[in-house]
Amino acid sequence: MPLANLDFTFLLLLVVTVFLSSKIQVQLPRTKIHLSFAEATIFFFIIVYSIEAAIITAALETVYASFALRRKDIPIKSQTIALNTAVGITSTFVAGTTAKLIFQTDSFAAYKSDLISLITILAIIAGIQFLLNSLYVSTFTSFRTGKNFLKIFNENCFNALIMYAVSAIVAGLMIEAIGQVNPVLLIAAIVVATVAYITYRRYLNDIKETSAKVEKSERERAEQAEKHIEELQHHIFEQEKTEQALRDSREKFRHAAYHDDLTDLPNRNKFIEILQFQIEKSQHDAEHQFAVLFLDLNRFKTINDSLGHSMGDELILRVAKRLGNITGNSDLVARFSGDEFSIILTQFENKKDALEFADLVHTKLALPFTISGRQIFTSVSIGIAFGNGLYKKSEEILRDADIAMYHAKESHRNYEIFDQAMHTKAVTLLQLETDLRHALERDEMLVHYQPIIDLATMMPMGFEALMRWKHPQRGSIPPIEFIPVAEETGIIIPLTIWIMRTACRQAVEWNKYLNDRVPLIMSINLSGKHFSQPDLVGQIRQVIDETGIDPRTIKLELTESAVMDNAENAIGMLKELRSLGLQLSIDDFGTGYSSLSYLHRFPIDMLKVDRSFVSTMEGGSENGEIVRTVIALAKTLRLSVIAEGIESIHQLHQLRILGCEYGQGYLFSRPVPPDEALVLLQDKARWQNIIPNNNPSIVAQNREFTQLRLDN
Ligand code: C2E
Ligand code: CA
Ligand code: CA
Repeated sequence: MPLANLDFTFLLLLVVTVFLSSKIQVQLPRTKIHLSFAEATIFFFIIVYSIEAAIITAALETVYASFALRRKDIPIKSQTIALNTAVGITSTFVAGTTAKLIFQTDSFAAYKSDLISLITILAIIAGIQFLLNSLYVSTFTSFRTGKNFLKIFNENCFNALIMYAVSAIVAGLMIEAIGQVNPVLLIAAIVVATVAYITYRRYLNDIKETSAKVEKSERERAEQAEKHIEELQHHIFEQEKTEQALRDSREKFRHAAYHDDLTDLPNRNKFIEILQFQIEKSQHDAEHQFAVLFLDLNRFKTINDSLGHSMGDELILRVAKRLGNITGNSDLVARFSGDEFSIILTQFENKKDALEFADLVHTKLALPFTISGRQIFTSVSIGIAFGNGLYKKSEEILRDADIAMYHAKESHRNYEIFDQAMHTKAVTLLQLETDLRHALERDEMLVHYQPIIDLATMMPMGFEALMRWKHPQRGSIPPIEFIPVAEETGIIIPLTIWIMRTACRQAVEWNKYLNDRVPLIMSINLSGKHFSQPDLVGQIRQVIDETGIDPRTIKLELTESAVMDNAENAIGMLKELRSLGLQLSIDDFGTGYSSLSYLHRFPIDMLKVDRSFVSTMEGGSENGEIVRTVIALAKTLRLSVIAEGIESIHQLHQLRILGCEYGQGYLFSRPVPPDEALVLLQDKARWQNIIPNNNPSIVAQNREFTQLRLDN
């Protein structure tokens, strides 16, 4: 290496190239090509200085650039650096030497001003450098990645070709420039340009960085906003979900509030609402007509009790279905509770149509239901109330349909149409019931006594105690009206205890007063309802204890149906009552259906022939026959006989002829208050005047005769 050649320019260029070339790289637009001025300097050195100077530059530049990359944390192995350096040296050497050989010269100084030669030399150098370097890079990469060598070469050679060509041109320009200007100035220009370039790059980077920062913050903001929107959407979605759930549950509650659980039919609430609408419509439009049908299944309780509740439920479901099938779209079927249904009917021309519909409902529900392989029969009682301008509230028309339904049930008819009389009756009954509850405490109850006559002696042997109610507004209410109400409501029990106590006290008083004679017998009526009370005997015993009455002077009158309805139990109860020492009588005998097989097992003392037979004794002989038969039967069963309702002397004679032992009736006396009863008792002349010159034995003789006739 001719050291003399190495001047200040060379050293300056060498330093600049080694330290700056890797920093000053220009990327060609739209390519991956990075240009540094290192190659250009190397070409420049080959031509202007020497191959050795170029090799040194290439080696130093490569090593420095590699370490610079390492500093930037790009991993480059030391072998790679060595190899790269070796390749750089080799290619520079081969390129420079080849050019020298071609031009047969030791120095290119002579060709600097010959443009053609200069271009040729540069082309040779650049071409060889390109070839060697490309081959090396492609081979090396192919080994490392296992990719096809040719493919890599093709991919990269164009970029490299451009780079070397540009470097060659730059080197040529540098050589030409040096010929015309001061090299120091040139280098100074290069340094200034480099500083300007670096500043510009910094500036560019700054811009890039700030724009990146801006971009980043924009992106973050956008992300933030997006997140926010997402959260908002989620929130809205959640809110909508809860609102929907709320709506659903509200809907569910609404449905439950207006529908029956079992059948899903509208319930009473819903029915009332729709009915109210119908009422209002008919108030505005006189032509609009509608009817309410109140339905109640007969015997449903029995079905439910005997077949179980699930069968009962199934039956209700089936009934609901049948009702749904026969009603029109504009009609409403509702289930109220248990076995109660109600229908609002709007599609009918006249009342006759509505009644035909009621008949249809009755017929359809009378057909058997097959449930779990069993045939179940039921029927329905229907009450009908027609809408009219007078109704103001749903409850009113519904109440009337209900009343009509009760009438239908009572009269065993398919349906009954409500009329005002029903309402009056219902209201009166309700009022009666209320009043009756307070009658005892308000001292409105009285006892009247009707004498019972010994038909042989024609003298009173006792009294029947009969209840009287002096209603403060309505006056005297007959027992036939209030006793059934008292029985239905259970008030009959305190009432009976009361009359028992009163009558027994009365009997004790009279018997004490009339010390001289056979004690009077007090007959007291006992309701069937009371008869089935388990503590009846206890209650009576208490009355006996309280009043101090001789129990043998009490006679209880029980109706035929009261004892026959539950004959087996009745026998036990009668025996218990008998064990208290009481006498027992069957009242209204002949009106019920007495079974003779039971009758002889009942521990009773007396049969009381119903007054309906006595009152007609005079007409045909038939009723006379019945009385005769009852008397004969009593004789056979060793029971005494009493006839009630004797109103005429003729009846009295006939009964005496038949051998009837006792009698009671208006002929002798109406039921009277206690003071009058005492007067009657003491009025002996009155009794003897009924049948003057009476022969007391005649009745007993006739009784024998009646017996004989029966035997025959
Ligand atoms: P009952 O037990 O058959 O009483 C006899 C009824 O026949 C009485 O009616 C009496 O006044 C009436 N009577 C008596 N003689 C004649 C007559 O010659 N002609 C006609 N037509 N009637 C006559 P009353 O007092 O109106 O009682 C009616 C029913 O009320 C009684 O029929 C009885 O079933 C019931 N009753 C009355 N008081 C009581 C009571 O304290 N307890 C119970 N459980 N029922 C009572
Ligand atoms: Ca009686
Ligand atoms: Ca009677």
